[in-house]
Amino acid sequence: MEAPDTAMPDHALRWRTDLSVFLWMLVLAVAAYAPVACMQYALKWDMVDCYLPWRHFAADAFAHGTFPLWDPYQSLGYPIYGDLRSVFYPDALFAGIFLGGFGVRTLHVLFIVHLALAGTGMYLLAGHFARRTAAVAPAATVRLRLEMDDVAWELTGPMRCALVTPDEKRAVTARLGPDPLRRNADPTRFRDRVLASAKPIGLLLMEQDVIAGVGNVYRSEVLNIVGIDPRRPGRSLHPDEVDAIWAEVVRQLRLGVRRNRIVTMDRAELSKPISRLLRGEGRYVYKQERCGRCGTELDVFDVAGRTAWSCPTCQPG
Ligand SMILES: [Zn+2]
Repeated sequence: MEAPDTAMPDHALRWRTDLSVFLWMLVLAVAAYAPVACMQYALKWDMVDCYLPWRHFAADAFAHGTFPLWDPYQSLGYPIYGDLRSVFYPDALFAGIFLGGFGVRTLHVLFIVHLALAGTGMYLLAGHFARRTAAVAPAATVRLRLEMDDVAWELTGPMRCALVTPDEKRAVTARLGPDPLRRNADPTRFRDRVLASAKPIGLLLMEQDVIAGVGNVYRSEVLNIVGIDPRRPGRSLHPDEVDAIWAEVVRQLRLGVRRNRIVTMDRAELSKPISRLLRGEGRYVYKQERCGRCGTELDVFDVAGRTAWSCPTCQPG
């Protein structure tokens, strides 16, 4: 399809974006420095002792078509050393040629413009680094990556990542157990599978055709919270215990989605706000040495080829 005639070329779009950033920064600078911008309070110290007379002289010289090689207002008028700071300053050149001089008002307006320029530069610099971050090479576990100029989206560690037909998709999802994150999930399917199985509950929780979406962290944490040893066979559990596991999995997964991180401890048990927890903090047993609920040293063993953690006190066998 042909691009419409009204489409703007890239560089024009960029200029327009940069200009709108600058205008927003200008509004922000005027608002933040309102007393200065409105000249309610004047700038002081070096601004009026040095910059104002130097700029005033240089702009005046430019306005009258002479070149300010020597500034009588600088260093008490003594030609002590060659100092080009004020004479060649571009804002004095601009004010001299286009405004006819540099006064107190010019000083204040240009001060605000400088703040806006600095803000715009910082914004563009941050954008530059954001684009570079997005361009970082994907990790080895990434299976799918969608990339644009300044953003990238990655899919890490999916069960299956392939282009499939709708029938194949149905076949894959049909093999999955109930999904605790879905409102219409059927927990009885999970309960029946667990109660009929001789496999340990720690293994069943990781089998995606029994219950979908539970990994090693949630397996370890949920079993600790409901007080069940991961090595107990599914059929040795009471139906109420299975229901308690389901309810806790639902609660934890919803919290995880909302916070975009796995913190299983209750807010009251945490020593700091959730946003300040380090990676891996806020868990009772997963990769811990002692139980986060009672302090007992944890049993560490293997279930389904993955390390499991269990508290002998909270999760009796
Ligand atoms: Zn414990």
